[in-house]
Amino acid sequence: MLQKNDIVKVTVKDITLDGKGVCKVSDGDPVIFVPCSAIGDVLEVKILKVLKHFAFGKIEKVINPSDDRCENTCSIFEKCGGCVFRHISYDCESKLKERIVSDAINKIAKVNYVPVNSILSASDVYRYRNKAIFPIRKIKGKVKFGFFALNSHRIVPCGDCVLHPKEFFDILASIVSWIEKMDVSVYDEKTHIGLIRNVYIRKGFATDEIMVCVVINGKKLPHASDLVTKLKRSVANIKSVLINFNTKKTNVVLGDICETIFGQDYIEDELCGLKFRISPKSFYQINHEQTEVLYDIVRKFANVSQDQTVLDLYCGIGTIGLTLAGSCEKLVGVEMIPDAIANAKVNARLNGVTNAKFVCADAADFIKEIEKVDMIVLDPPRKGCAKDVLTTIANRGIEKIVYVSCNPATLARDVKILYDKGYELKKVQPVDMFPRTGHVEVVVLISRVES
Ligand code: SAH
Repeated sequence: MLQKNDIVKVTVKDITLDGKGVCKVSDGDPVIFVPCSAIGDVLEVKILKVLKHFAFGKIEKVINPSDDRCENTCSIFEKCGGCVFRHISYDCESKLKERIVSDAINKIAKVNYVPVNSILSASDVYRYRNKAIFPIRKIKGKVKFGFFALNSHRIVPCGDCVLHPKEFFDILASIVSWIEKMDVSVYDEKTHIGLIRNVYIRKGFATDEIMVCVVINGKKLPHASDLVTKLKRSVANIKSVLINFNTKKTNVVLGDICETIFGQDYIEDELCGLKFRISPKSFYQINHEQTEVLYDIVRKFANVSQDQTVLDLYCGIGTIGLTLAGSCEKLVGVEMIPDAIANAKVNARLNGVTNAKFVCADAADFIKEIEKVDMIVLDPPRKGCAKDVLTTIANRGIEKIVYVSCNPATLARDVKILYDKGYELKKVQPVDMFPRTGHVEVVVLISRVES
């Protein structure tokens, strides 16, 4: 029997989407998950925890490294809870993500068999993120910014992170220096005392416009004009500086109210030849290059015609729908965040789109009410669609669905629900929006089987 603190020799046979190698001491033994290992690694592993059906271990020694391995150059890899694949080549990571999507769709959902298209990998795996939230805390008396360690509230300080634009770290350095110079307090989660909680930064990659939002545990930010001066000096193109008030004891980053202390309360970016206004609370895809790839697939799968009404459910600021508006008769977008719907309405105007309507509502409620829909785009959050949404789609007999998902497991569940209600899977296209991390995006085309 495997026991805690045992040292065992294993060969890694598989790897999970969260970057853990899968191995066994011998057949019949429990599976051991080992972070940062690669398929083919021969390892000496120390067992950290044994559960009924599986165990967790950590690498003591790499006896024989896998060919998949590559050099990791990040000093906080394994600590920060961000990347999980910095130790294997991007090519191996892409193939793994493709296989995970294929397994979810064809083995877990168990619907009509469909070959999965080759994953559309990113050409750039560095500094692709256009958004980040950095907690600010005091560590040993010094003000630090960083990331939360995996499943923890412990901060891993970072000077830089190769997934984010360099300017983000110039901005953070100037905020830390302002905090120290003005002796502004920083938040302590244990006591719920201290002012500066988080810094939230967003950048439009096509426009270079930057938004900085300082989240505070209080009602007023002292020396705000001094901060604005410092920020404007730290990087060019700061278009918006905001304070967000969050005095609750919560893990949710943003409170309800924002105050603009410099510039506009939004930034703009461009995608697929269109202009988009983005408010701090609105969702916006984090990888600009790959979003254009993703939306292009959606457009091809949707293949809409001039006599059709398109419903963009979970529409955010209207990005997907507006890229289709020119090809359809009517577009209706639905989203529950009011700021995002306000953005979507402006975005229609900015792009001269006159056949679109955007509604702030819960997806499940709205879909029951809309009159005519020929095709529907679903792009729900990680938890997937509410069952009610899928049932209504089926009851109404909507012909065609393009489902965009950032979670293969909930996608597989929802595809199965639709399959059982008379729909067939037609196409599956994985897109890597999140290189080096344990996330993958998928677009599927589903259509109603003729009765
Ligand atoms: N399609 C958009 C947004 C996708 S993210 C894009 O590509 O940018 C998913 C969106 O669904 C978020 O904006 C979120 O606020 C919204 N959402 C989550 N649950 C919802 C619900 N029950 N009803 C309507 N919108 C919802």
